[in-house]
Amino acid sequence: MAKTAVITGASSGLGAEYARQLAAKGADLVLVARDRDALEDLAQQLRARHGIDVEVLAADLLKPRQREKVERRLRDESRPVELLVNNAGFGLPLAFERNDIEAEVSHLALHVEVPMRLTHAALTPMLGRGHGRIVNIASVGAFIPRSTYGACKGWLVSFSRWANGRYAPRGVTVTAVCPGFTHTGFHQRLGLAPGEEGVPDAMWLDARTVVAESLRDAARGKAVSVPSLRYKALVALARFAPSGLTARIGERGR
Ligand code: NAP
Repeated sequence: MAKTAVITGASSGLGAEYARQLAAKGADLVLVARDRDALEDLAQQLRARHGIDVEVLAADLLKPRQREKVERRLRDESRPVELLVNNAGFGLPLAFERNDIEAEVSHLALHVEVPMRLTHAALTPMLGRGHGRIVNIASVGAFIPRSTYGACKGWLVSFSRWANGRYAPRGVTVTAVCPGFTHTGFHQRLGLAPGEEGVPDAMWLDARTVVAESLRDAARGKAVSVPSLRYKALVALARFAPSGLTARIGERGR
């Protein structure tokens, strides 16, 4: 039987690209996001092109009852899940003090609470079988902080490092993926026109490269994956830079 991957935020951007690349490797998929039509379209394309099974699980992960459907799917031992990609996310448009506090709370929930709950649901069956893989999409913002976004992604990196150390010896690896600026729907959803981020062209990554590199790192059991040499160098520099300087760099652009 083909291995099954659950991908959150699969209706667009990096999540859809994880779906395409995993389908090309022959994995069966469970696609999760709110936009059912976008998920159905992608599912149909991938079934036709690769002859795999694709389930569509339309859910708003910020709504407990809908999120629980995904948790139940992850716990279902009769249809084992080999890979969980915690990818769903969004950005907030304003400076922290100007954002609506309820929007900040939802942002924290989607980037921290949801991946923690889904990881918890996936782990027990994976540990029982003695194998599995969890991939948490963080960001270089974990190292070059940018408001609460960087703080949430920092939580994911710290959690993944610990979880990989703890569970890899039992066959379950946990990898935090830390992309830099990547062409997806993310910045558009923030209401930004292309180029409006104020980020040089050379710093933009392609979703295909990010996903391919991160899947290679996850297969090697790495705790942290920073796709591209450019961003590996930047993250290495950020480790030694004073925190005031990294905060100023993080605030560049928008
Ligand atoms: P994107 O194209 O906007 O995709 C975001 C995905 O998250 C969509 O599929 C969206 O689907 C889903 N989503 C949002 N809210 C949701 C909710 N409440 N419930 C379920 N699904 C939800 O952006 P992306 O760049 O691919 O983002 C994917 C991940 O990469 C995020 O975690 C982001 O923080 C991270 N990342 C992005 C960049 C970048 O520059 N693009 C850099 C570093 C890290 P629906 O709207 O259909 O629900």
